[in-house]
Amino acid sequence: MNKVLTKNVECKFLGASGTVTGSCYMITHPGGKFLVDCGLFQGSKSVRALNYSAFPFQVDDIDFVVLTHAHVDHSGLVPKLVKAGYRGPVYTTDGTRDLLTYMLPDSGYIHETEVRRINRRNMRRGLDPIEPIYNKSDAEYALDFIEPRPYSKTFEAAPGVSLRFWNAGHILGSASVEVHVETEDGTVKALFSGDIGPDEKAFHNDPDSPTDIDYLFVESTYGDRDRTDLTLEARRDILKQELLAGLKAGGNVLIPAFAVERTQELLYDIGLLLDDKDLPPVTVYLDSPLAIRATEVFEGHADELFDVERRGGLFRNPRFQFVNRATDSQALDRITSGAIIIAASGMCDAGRIRYHLKSNLWRPQATVLFVGYQATGSLGAMLLNGADTVHIHGREIAVKARIRRIDNYSAHADQQELINWTKERLPVNRGIFITHGEDMARATLRDHLVANGCDAKRLFIPRLDETYVLSLKGKINHSLIKPRLKQDDVTGEDWHNDYASFLVNLSDTLRAQDSDHERHRALQKLRQVLDRMEPPAS
Ligand SMILES: [Zn+2]
Repeated sequence: MNKVLTKNVECKFLGASGTVTGSCYMITHPGGKFLVDCGLFQGSKSVRALNYSAFPFQVDDIDFVVLTHAHVDHSGLVPKLVKAGYRGPVYTTDGTRDLLTYMLPDSGYIHETEVRRINRRNMRRGLDPIEPIYNKSDAEYALDFIEPRPYSKTFEAAPGVSLRFWNAGHILGSASVEVHVETEDGTVKALFSGDIGPDEKAFHNDPDSPTDIDYLFVESTYGDRDRTDLTLEARRDILKQELLAGLKAGGNVLIPAFAVERTQELLYDIGLLLDDKDLPPVTVYLDSPLAIRATEVFEGHADELFDVERRGGLFRNPRFQFVNRATDSQALDRITSGAIIIAASGMCDAGRIRYHLKSNLWRPQATVLFVGYQATGSLGAMLLNGADTVHIHGREIAVKARIRRIDNYSAHADQQELINWTKERLPVNRGIFITHGEDMARATLRDHLVANGCDAKRLFIPRLDETYVLSLKGKINHSLIKPRLKQDDVTGEDWHNDYASFLVNLSDTLRAQDSDHERHRALQKLRQVLDRMEPPAS
């Protein structure tokens, strides 16, 4: 094998640098190479296009992969790696392995259906068809390479490299990864935070990790945001008030929810509210096959779940109905009031929630209750921003429903918790890399870390495809050679976002005109502007 070996340890940031997705670090060391996370890019089209292009490394060179947790932005390109010929181990925890058993095939299925839709459009435009990144059976095959390891126990992942998982408190199975790499100069000790959970969280202990490390890689999703601290009881009470208000309004209550963790937290809380007769005997539909499978995984790990008030039947209640079949999901259309429907996706960009939104959004009695992060540009964000109309499955739908939000069901540490977690790791002997956050969040967290005693010279904000030498002495060198995207395209909205918002404005402007004659005139004026535009010089 023709491996490029180095005397030093190097880290190349192949994702989650200026975004919160595509988490992937490639470590090159004297004995070989490995990846920490292998995540899918989500967000703008420019960023998502990275999923379709070849990996920026030789797949044969990678000795092993270690995954921090099951979310697809950390694990979702593992099937692509196996499809490209990777045959090494994928180390992770038991919980993550069990979740991936359902999440990766589900991700493969989503790619297949998305590509089918794109190809229908491409055919109409005379464009070539594209291949899915991977399909469901590629994902199922990739599962064979997962090798689970327990928390807290150091194990040798490859000659000269040992790993240890620490509880990250983010979702079931989530871990921070401690990495020790042998070099001529000594052992380089690194810690990858993965995604860190908040302190007050159902199911998981507070995050924990070691001290005495050389290099720290810390996430910064909420580096610029602080939440009000609420106890689990106070949070459940807010949920109760929202559900009661929604039911009182006379329609259904739709809750778009991430299938893993968020759905189980909701089922758990709603179950307690029903048991305590804090809610009327309402029927709760869980309409997401992936969420149903994930709930079974949670039940299988019930003994590890922390701070729950009862054992057994944690997520079961006579009022809960788990909807597997698509026909049963469609039948929910006939219910116009008094039901709570939990469905994925959490940001309303895909999945069964879109059908329920189509049937309920135009009803003033209906409620849509958001309980999770809504990325800029997602349908969920548009609804929260007060859109009057939205497009779902090619149809224009008026938004008359009550749009509500609860901010406290988060799987992520907020700014203060990130600062505290980082401070507990100090002193970090060499450098701290701030990753997995938008640039504003990263810069804000850096400023706060400096204010909290971190040495500014040791804090780094790496860019996509940038390489840092993780040396044990001297200057920390870095280089950026031919990045796959300009940093502006990584962090900002791209022209596709501009185009989408232009179309919405155009539609609103035309609608606001007094007559069809005025609309015709407005379009003619626009046409004149377009005609005056010079084609770019070739
Ligand atoms: Zn995550």
